[in-house]
Amino acid sequence: MTNVSVVGAGPAGLETAKLLAMQGMDVTVFEEHPVVGEPENCSGLISASGASELKLDLDKVLVNSIMGARIFSPDDVMIEVKREKPVALVIDRAGFDKKLLDKAKKAGAKTRLNTKLRNIRGESVFLESKRGEFHKSSVVVGADGVNSTVRHIMGLKTNKENYVHTLQFKCDGSFDKNFVEVYFGNFAPGFFAWVIPESESRARVGLGARLGANIEEAFNKFRIQKEISGELHSKASAMIPVSQPLKSVVKGNSLLVGDSGFHTKATTGGGIILGIQAAKVCAETVANNFKHKTPLSRYDKNLDQVNKELALHWRIRNYLNGLENKKMDKMFEKAVRAGLPEFLEEEGDMDKPSRFAGKMLKKPKMWLLIPSALRALMS
Ligand SMILES: Cc1cc2nc3c(=O)[nH]c(=O)nc-3n(C[C@H](O)[C@H](O)[C@H](O)COP(=O)(O)OP(=O)(O)OC[C@H]3O[C@@H](n4cnc5c(N)ncnc54)[C@H](O)[C@@H]3O)c2cc1C
Repeated sequence: MTNVSVVGAGPAGLETAKLLAMQGMDVTVFEEHPVVGEPENCSGLISASGASELKLDLDKVLVNSIMGARIFSPDDVMIEVKREKPVALVIDRAGFDKKLLDKAKKAGAKTRLNTKLRNIRGESVFLESKRGEFHKSSVVVGADGVNSTVRHIMGLKTNKENYVHTLQFKCDGSFDKNFVEVYFGNFAPGFFAWVIPESESRARVGLGARLGANIEEAFNKFRIQKEISGELHSKASAMIPVSQPLKSVVKGNSLLVGDSGFHTKATTGGGIILGIQAAKVCAETVANNFKHKTPLSRYDKNLDQVNKELALHWRIRNYLNGLENKKMDKMFEKAVRAGLPEFLEEEGDMDKPSRFAGKMLKKPKMWLLIPSALRALMS
């Protein structure tokens, strides 16, 4: 019998597996695909602060360093935030996952590729690789992404409002390699479109929208409107969980981590940094269960810090989704007048809004010009 089965070899699963193996536990990772990191469904943008705090090894997978962002309202009012030092990093996501795999293996985790989880009954994990095969393990970590089978087996219900649909391409053309661009507008109901440069001649261009929108049409509308005419390739389409934090992500001997547990920022859809942070909490919870018999149900409580940030991301998303185009244009204009760009240059944090929310609330100019935005942060 294995101590822990980890389902899914993405960043959240591989980090959890590595940390558990480092504590001497018997861990097996099951991944349905033959190659880790593929197919790639990600823009690979992470905060420089998150990468540094988590001491991520980005050797040979760092593609570009980003100095700031230009965020456009529906009528092209721009908020520009820029720093002297890199604020975000564009990574080769498939390469990054492969590095995490190497580290998990070196720590002693076993991996089974081409092996899909079908069902869990008590300590039996049913797999698809060979007919009727099952594996015994005391604990199951569901790190199986947005369409998590483990979450489904645990009976945790989500609904379609909890997801956005995305479409992304790599695009050849001419780009400012220092800036990420974000576009709000009718073409992306409930989310936004983005241009993330890999270099001066290539960018990851994508769009997310509420489920039910015709994503191809939405993407074409965006491209035409913003005159993005370069050649497109490497098409990828997937969903992102966008919701307030789930009330509970542990049941019996199963725990969820990463996208499966909605450890994803509702503002941007980014889940690499938050997923790895949650993985650390997950691994600690499981290790304490084995070593000290601490109940696995503590996991929800242990995630308090992660959930606090996720809840703030959700409030910001909810606020933005409640603004129709004209109101958003006005809010952008007022935010510029209130000095929001300069404030974010000093204080902004892509992952942890709690780091700047309090300071923002103390700015009288912001209360005067964008009170509804501040109320959204407080609610
Ligand atoms: C278009 C797009 C752009 C994005 N851009 C960014 C970005 O710029 N920055 C950022 O931080 N985040 C971004 N994200 C989100 C990010 O990709 C996810 O948050 C992240 O991949 C979550 O990691 P994970 O380990 O939880 O899950 P995943 O990386 O999805 O890994 C889950 C793994 O589980 C496997 N699996 C699933 N079901 C089973 C099963 N039944 N049995 C066995 N294996 C299974 C899958 O094959 C997969 O390998 C983006 C997402 C999309 C769709």
